[in-house]
Amino acid sequence: QPRAPHEVIAMAEEQGVEMVDLRFCDLPGTMQHFSVPIRQLTEDSFEEGFGFDGSSIRGFKTINESDMILKPDPRSAYLDPFRKHRTLVLNCFIYDPVTGQPYDRDPRRVAAAAEEHLRASGIADTAYFGPEAEFFIFDDVRYHQDEHSASYVVDSIEGAWNTDRNEQGSNLGGKIPFKRGYFPVPPMDKFQDLRSEMVLTMQALGIEIEVQHHEVATAGQAEIDMRYDTLLAMADKLMLYKYVVKSVAQQGGYTATFMPKPLFQDNGSGMHTHQSLWRDGEPLFYESGGYADLSELALHYIGGILAHAPSILAFAAPTTNSYKRLVPGYEAPVNLVFSQRNRSAACRIPMYSLSPKAKRVEFRCPDAMANPYLAFSAMLLAGLDGIRNKIEPAGPDDRDLFDLPPDEARALPTVPSSLEGSLAALEADHDYLLEGGVFSQDLIDTWIAYKRAEEVDAIRLRPHPYEFALYYDA
Ligand code: GLU
Ligand code: MG
Ligand code: MG
Repeated sequence: QPRAPHEVIAMAEEQGVEMVDLRFCDLPGTMQHFSVPIRQLTEDSFEEGFGFDGSSIRGFKTINESDMILKPDPRSAYLDPFRKHRTLVLNCFIYDPVTGQPYDRDPRRVAAAAEEHLRASGIADTAYFGPEAEFFIFDDVRYHQDEHSASYVVDSIEGAWNTDRNEQGSNLGGKIPFKRGYFPVPPMDKFQDLRSEMVLTMQALGIEIEVQHHEVATAGQAEIDMRYDTLLAMADKLMLYKYVVKSVAQQGGYTATFMPKPLFQDNGSGMHTHQSLWRDGEPLFYESGGYADLSELALHYIGGILAHAPSILAFAAPTTNSYKRLVPGYEAPVNLVFSQRNRSAACRIPMYSLSPKAKRVEFRCPDAMANPYLAFSAMLLAGLDGIRNKIEPAGPDDRDLFDLPPDEARALPTVPSSLEGSLAALEADHDYLLEGGVFSQDLIDTWIAYKRAEEVDAIRLRPHPYEFALYYDA
């Protein structure tokens, strides 16, 4: 893996690269790109940067101050396996050409600053993140165009679970019922080869994969797990993971979605995020003897995550659809408590391995619609705040939390029930994110305003199809 500009240029020469694809992440979390011919990539260009118009990018600049530049990050270089012409991809940092300063709303800047802030804290030098991004593979999405907003409105999704896709109701054989996808062998599982293709492509790109499998929901829900990595590197890998999943699905004639809850009454797709802190190569979350062999530092980290969870979710479960997933009964958490092995708690301590190096916390609330640079950074800052202020976590609670008598359930803290709830929590609780200048006040304000206008209100103002079922003839 190249580290310096001249190494990237040597790699490009060696590989016969013709095009360079420059990528960055917009505020909501979609990768953006433009390309230059290889001759434009000189050593100087890494310092001088490549210009683009920031005014058309979601959540970025206004039109009157829209000139921005991208400076490629040499450590991020890889060859795009999906392009016809040999293409080198470089993830970039965004700069303001007038002030020469890094752009405060650049999600990669936030992630790099979070890592720097961790090192400066003296608490640890490394934070590892291991996200388990689940997704659905569908055959087809039928839509019409909304007259007023010109956006696409989905009428139906077609998937392998859909028994009457080809012949009306005739072929029940080999179909996975709701919540029964984990995990019968093929031919029930019809996506084994497609998932393997995704895994092999990811591995060729330098992403180490631990496992792929069908997930619990009906035919088409999938999970591929990457080996953990440091914060910024893992966020970059997650963006690449989504790119590979979507590209391989499309090559196979399918579409893939990371939308958290596409199907009513079936499991949704989460992005459980495993986390641990290390110093001088030693794990800091393990101490034998206590509950789940957690160290005091780990308990306080969990305390910070749970205490700030409602505001973290403004970044980590950042869509209106996210809150249709965070309901009891579908392996997604609702209660803000921790527990070993218990999949109904927001923070689970996995007990598959008893080794100190494997000691970690799995925060189960996030989903893969999150901008990973922002979401991982928010989790780390919440954990650090918990350590600094010795916040004791609620729990441990080893009960099945989906099955509590109502009065006991009411006694437990819960996740917000809507995106607006999480945004309001972020508005009230974000000092921990401003520490070390990791998040700027401007980024937080922009995020809240953007999400309210483009998503909360966009959904709130539209009559819902099910309202017709409830009210039309009432
Ligand atoms: N799909 C479940 C969720 O929404 C999680 C299933 C699992 O434990 O992997 O979080
Ligand atoms: Mg899973
Ligand atoms: Mg998990």
